[in-house]
Amino acid sequence: MKVFEEIESEVQSYARSFPRVFNKAQGEYLYDEEGNQYLDFLAGAGTLNYGHNNPIFKKALLEYIEQDGITHGLDLHTKAKREFLESFYEHILKPRDMSYVMQFTGPTGTNAVEAALKIARKYKGRENIISFTNGFHGCSMGALAATGNSHHRGAAGVSMSGVSRIPYEGYLGDDIDTTAYLDKVLSDSSSGIDLPAAVMVETVQGEGGINAASFEWLRNLQDVCTKHDVLLIVDDIQAGCGRTGSYFSFEEAGIKPDIVTLSKSLSGYGLPFAVVLMKPELDQWKPGEHNGTFRGNNLAFVTAKAAIDNFWSDDKFAKEVQRKGDYIGQRLETIVDKYGDGNMTTRGRGMFRGLNCVSGDLASEITREAFKHGLVIETSGAEDHVVKTLCPLTISDENLTKALDIVEQAVAKVLKGQDVPEEHDFFADDESSSEEGTEAAA
Ligand SMILES: *Cc1c(COP(=O)(O)O)cnc(C)c1O
Repeated sequence: MKVFEEIESEVQSYARSFPRVFNKAQGEYLYDEEGNQYLDFLAGAGTLNYGHNNPIFKKALLEYIEQDGITHGLDLHTKAKREFLESFYEHILKPRDMSYVMQFTGPTGTNAVEAALKIARKYKGRENIISFTNGFHGCSMGALAATGNSHHRGAAGVSMSGVSRIPYEGYLGDDIDTTAYLDKVLSDSSSGIDLPAAVMVETVQGEGGINAASFEWLRNLQDVCTKHDVLLIVDDIQAGCGRTGSYFSFEEAGIKPDIVTLSKSLSGYGLPFAVVLMKPELDQWKPGEHNGTFRGNNLAFVTAKAAIDNFWSDDKFAKEVQRKGDYIGQRLETIVDKYGDGNMTTRGRGMFRGLNCVSGDLASEITREAFKHGLVIETSGAEDHVVKTLCPLTISDENLTKALDIVEQAVAKVLKGQDVPEEHDFFADDESSSEEGTEAAA
């Protein structure tokens, strides 16, 4: 462990919660160098929706590498990019009747957000952007300006401007529709809030504590945008790619954002990849205006295509996610009913859910306890007070049950002092079911 303390920067975060050296992963399993097996409910913070090293994607990738396929291509036209674009069009855009053009940005989520904000500002000729309380959009300057979290914002070292913040749904209590507030300030030339180029929103706030907006609120938000001639950007970097039970998190709400950002699980394999989808008329870029050396991560095109072809050519996988999501929701409700002190609540939708423990100390005690029993699980929210269940969408029913048992036992132990077995029976069990994570692809 020493080298990490001596050579690696203090900026490390997740590594602090899980002080092990991991050396192998498959499906929903993570392994450390001591041979311990863990169930992964962190899943790359939503990057591993199809599990670790999904065998179907791995095969496509290995074949591509074996054939000396292009790895790095700047923005050159390549076969891998063409095949990705064709699949994305055929299985994602066309069936949903969406007409977007696709911009390949630098491969991180935050770079896609930068590009989205730039094009919105350029198109509308306005500087201001509306974002929401507890929103998280990344740590580079433009995206950070739109991010709420003061811990992240504080690291900027310069003032961040060009963004006005509006309360997200529920921020002022259940009875207040905050889109009405937005409508009001945009209608009032003395509100002090400049007419924005765009409103940027997460349909479920991931880092902000799994706050899930209602479909009605999202539709109202779109109406307010339309009324005031403002673009709507959905940052679907964490909520998208199936997490909520549909490919895009906003499908069920029936809204049609002008711009969508995708990254995290887009490549399906944990390879860096990010895109901006925009309505064709918005595509006012001049050649090379938003450049980036790693816009052509062709290995990611290969696995992203495999993910779309294998999981999204019909609605089977989406239905599976909805079914498992309902199960997670029920289990969390039961935990709240059994052990909650009246304050604890559940949050989220689909397989994007969490347990709101109100107290950050409590939430971290629960995740620490769960880790002792073989579950890698993290918190999010302003006070890190929400335990988030962000497992691979491909997890087997058996392991989903096991993991939620561990969560329940951890809550019981922390809140009621009820004891749990010293070692959960699968904790040391080695590779017995390493292929389980891929069931849904079959
Ligand atoms: C993770 C995330 C980002 C930033 O992505 P990075 O790859 O970490 O830069 C932006 N928006 C949302 C909603 C995210 O969850």
